[in-house]
Amino acid sequence: MQVMELLLNGAVQGVGFRPLVYRVAHQMGLGGAVWNEPGGVRVRLVGPAHRVAEFSARLRAECAPPARIDSLRTLSIATTDHAEPFRIVESMARGTRDALVMPDLATCPACLRELFDPRNRRFRYPFINCTHCGPRFSIITGIPYDRPQTTMSAFTLCAECKAEYENPEDRRFHAQPNACPQCGPQVELLDAQGARLGGRDWAIRQAVIHLREGKIVAVKGIGGFHLLCNARNAEAVAELRRRKQREEKPLAVMVPDLETAARLAEVSRDEEDLLATPAAPIVLLRKRRDADIAEAVAPNNPYIGLVLPYSPIHHLLLRALELPLVATSGNLSDEPICIDERDAVRRLAGVADLFLVHNRPIVRPLDDSVARIALGKPMLLRRARGYAPLALPLPVETQPLLALGPHLKNTVALAIRDRVVISQHLGDLDTLESRNAFEQSLADLQTLYGERPNVWLADNHPDYASSLFARGQGHDPIRVQHHHAHIAAVMAEHGLNDTVLGFAWDGTGLGEDGTLWGGELLRATRDRYIRIGHLSGFHLPGGESAIRKPIMAAFGALHAAFPEQMPALAIERLGLDRETAHNLQTMIEKKINSPFTTSAGRWFDVVAALCGICRESRYEGMAAQRLEHAMDANLFAWPYPFDISPVEGVIVYELKPMLNALLADLAAGVPPARIATRFHLTLVDIIVRTADAHQGLPIALGGGCFQNQFLLDTAVARLREADHTVYWPQRVPPNDGGISLGQIFVAAGRKP
Ligand SMILES: [Zn+2]
Ligand SMILES: [Zn+2]
Ligand SMILES: [Zn+2]
Repeated sequence: MQVMELLLNGAVQGVGFRPLVYRVAHQMGLGGAVWNEPGGVRVRLVGPAHRVAEFSARLRAECAPPARIDSLRTLSIATTDHAEPFRIVESMARGTRDALVMPDLATCPACLRELFDPRNRRFRYPFINCTHCGPRFSIITGIPYDRPQTTMSAFTLCAECKAEYENPEDRRFHAQPNACPQCGPQVELLDAQGARLGGRDWAIRQAVIHLREGKIVAVKGIGGFHLLCNARNAEAVAELRRRKQREEKPLAVMVPDLETAARLAEVSRDEEDLLATPAAPIVLLRKRRDADIAEAVAPNNPYIGLVLPYSPIHHLLLRALELPLVATSGNLSDEPICIDERDAVRRLAGVADLFLVHNRPIVRPLDDSVARIALGKPMLLRRARGYAPLALPLPVETQPLLALGPHLKNTVALAIRDRVVISQHLGDLDTLESRNAFEQSLADLQTLYGERPNVWLADNHPDYASSLFARGQGHDPIRVQHHHAHIAAVMAEHGLNDTVLGFAWDGTGLGEDGTLWGGELLRATRDRYIRIGHLSGFHLPGGESAIRKPIMAAFGALHAAFPEQMPALAIERLGLDRETAHNLQTMIEKKINSPFTTSAGRWFDVVAALCGICRESRYEGMAAQRLEHAMDANLFAWPYPFDISPVEGVIVYELKPMLNALLADLAAGVPPARIATRFHLTLVDIIVRTADAHQGLPIALGGGCFQNQFLLDTAVARLREADHTVYWPQRVPPNDGGISLGQIFVAAGRKP
């Protein structure tokens, strides 16, 4: 008889994988053992050597989601004359630590049936789960994933739960968060001051009553607190906005089921599948005109973000209410979400009327992920709960690397060999809370995966909180140019090791020449790039703080194109008073806080402000969104003219002719819908004409501008018509959430 060792990598821990191995081995009459290791799952097989191939094939064939085999290696072969029955042994904390920690998974259909089955011992128990569902990353404190290394360690399994936990034939075999009403966590309802009102099912039923009455309830879920209220109650939604000081940014809505989703929005088959995946992201959908929902949920917005209930608590609330609920992050502005009840009562004081909490601790904040279907495939816009920390494969082996990410929409990343683990979305690093979450996440990844890289990577902006942190720690990180990182992220995701033509279009990032880039054309390989072109630029009065003021960008663009007509033109076209216009002119001419920018995002601002669509932006990217929504994709329209002029060997896409034509359109009373459409088509034209001039190079589209559905869809369609190969971000956001991956890939090619 032979002894064979197999090492399996992938999503193989905490998903019922060892019972599958056990079953297949038993059925094939093979002896041996299976156990979890930090490096994955190891199987020792004892039996005839020729059966190992059949065994592997059966494992691959019978492995069903959420389990996934990424690699299967046969490690060693010896002989033995000892037959042994197949068994599952306790985890061994040895070997390398690149096992995949699983993300949190939405309640599975089997658990959902039990949750509402009065004969089941977990009837209405808010913490029901099994190996196919439940919390993972939000409760794990160490690898390997075993109960003592989760926040369930404080709860001792009762006899019945223990029997399930130890029975390889049971759906709850080694389900680490396994629990029941006798031995597991419980919910409690607190008043606005944090005083206990009651617990268990009473708390859930009271929360339902208060939500129906229009109250705002903070609910502790999987990755943190949500603020919930009745999405049909205009007063409740307005009150939530007032208390949260969130004027216009769209709010996500949790719906009881797919049927309700289809009554609020147009939902395709792909979008249905995305809503119902175990990751349960918020999915951006086209809102129905007759959607029965308060306008204030997503004001002036043709889209709405919907999410299905993903924890038993949500199911209990939504099943009873039969209402769509606003489900927005339990935080203020762009801070990370609250995860701890005392913290929530403090930080959400004056926002929530009641707190529905529980005593299963959350280790790290995990916001809801946000996704949409782009060109028939899911595209993540915010990667957090349900996706983080699933590792992505890198198309190159690397020394250990730690990427500190960007400043806005920060994520950090850790690379080990040919894998990269990207943290969950951590938010903008402007607040103390976000910076704390950032530092914790860095420490957390290194502890979990047992790797402390000496090589750190950071954005080339010296004043970003991440750069300051590195210096404070005595590190001198490798500086990665922001837009190179955007393109490198696309390359990493799609396994591209050769030269690409990259369009890196976003809000801003610091260029190598000290100006603010963002409308860049890069000829890039993994570890280097040449800036071969960019949109024409202008001086932006107010600098990076003008990002919330599209009118500043419009002033700057007019000033650059028609200096002799300023400030009269700005007064006429932007409705500025004489004094403001003169001040802005002085700022630009005396070079006071008016950096030069070539950002595509700022050009969206220019057009939005000139059309009167958005003069002041209330959240990041608002002007660009408004302009996209103003557009009429069915209009028959032409792009605006632009010039292509090489300046010192760099192509400049000169947009002065566009501005000229746009002003003529405005003077002729052309409606904003047509102007917005023509502007979008101009950008598409720039991409396609550039690609045509660089035949043979694959195209990579990266940066926040490619969240724009029309820009992405139309550019990709036109590029494909012209036989170009084009890549865009899918599993990692196109916005700055993907920068940490790009930073890793840029440095992955370098020798230590
Ligand atoms: Zn389950
Ligand atoms: Zn129990
Ligand atoms: Zn960016």
